[in-house]
Amino acid sequence: MSALILCGKTVSKNVKNNLKSEIAILKAKGIVPSLAVVLVGDNPASHVYVRNKQKAAEELGIYSVTMQYDASMSQDVLNRLIDELNADEHFHGILVQLPLPKHLNENEVIQRISPDKDVDGFHPVSVGKLVLGQDTFVSCTPAGVMEILKFYNIDPSGKNVVIIGRSNIVGKPMLNLLYQKATYANATVTICHTRTKDIAAHTKQADIVIVAAGRPHTLTADMVKEGVVVIDVGINRIEDPTTEKGYSLVGDADYEGLLSKVSAITPVPGGVGPMTIAMLMKNTVISAGRILSK
Ligand code: NAD
Repeated sequence: MSALILCGKTVSKNVKNNLKSEIAILKAKGIVPSLAVVLVGDNPASHVYVRNKQKAAEELGIYSVTMQYDASMSQDVLNRLIDELNADEHFHGILVQLPLPKHLNENEVIQRISPDKDVDGFHPVSVGKLVLGQDTFVSCTPAGVMEILKFYNIDPSGKNVVIIGRSNIVGKPMLNLLYQKATYANATVTICHTRTKDIAAHTKQADIVIVAAGRPHTLTADMVKEGVVVIDVGINRIEDPTTEKGYSLVGDADYEGLLSKVSAITPVPGGVGPMTIAMLMKNTVISAGRILSK
């Protein structure tokens, strides 16, 4: 079977192109979609992510400011900053880059961001609305997976979907999107995690497997049926002396091993990865657009 490669670069470009016209309409009405990104500490991966977000915003004409703070920033100062950003009408979205240094309480920070500006979709109000099937900001990576499915006309309706991983930012919102009574949803969803006894017993029944475990080779060819669709959310650095950087990026699925068995699969890199930032941009534009309906 020759597998369809689900190209996140193409889908993210499509999302961004659609946003351009929406941004132009907003700008014509005097609204410039604006995003505040708060970065605390010197986690190298966080710096890369934030740079990429800034670049994507600039390319689209979204006003984005990255506010960088020392790792020693106190909870009080961070809380006050978020209060100020909540009150600042210029910003339609607030994103605090995670993980935060250990002494800072991530839950407290997430809950302090106004749900109206919660473009990451992590606030309990956003999560609650998602569970209830109400319009809300959806966590960007799962939202990106949904865009890939739609773009390639892979309708989960009536299908068995297995998600591996139950994190708040990927696994849980993914679950909550897929079982909804909605277009490109209506799936029967199973969620597997570290305490699942026999993951393969579940994945073998799946029409679509979404793997977000943070571990290479979590999903292998012997665990799936012929013709399955595999969405690989994982991004793992593995040592690779043949590359200039000394490492390669791989997903959570055994891509090479799965290729001859799947009907479609996302590569890593170039699959789900590019979608996350595109969906952050989309959420920021949606947030800016809500001003018109107020
Ligand atoms: P996490 O560590 O918060 O959660 C991982 C989940 O997988 C946990 O619920 C855990 O129970 C489960 N798990 C771990 N090992 C397992 C195993 N062997 N079998 C079954 N379940 C297992 O990670 P996360 O934030 O959800 O991210 C998951 C992966 O997705 C990581 O590789 C991360 O880098 C990647 N990620 C990518 C993007 C993107 O933009 N593409 C965004 C977020 C996360």
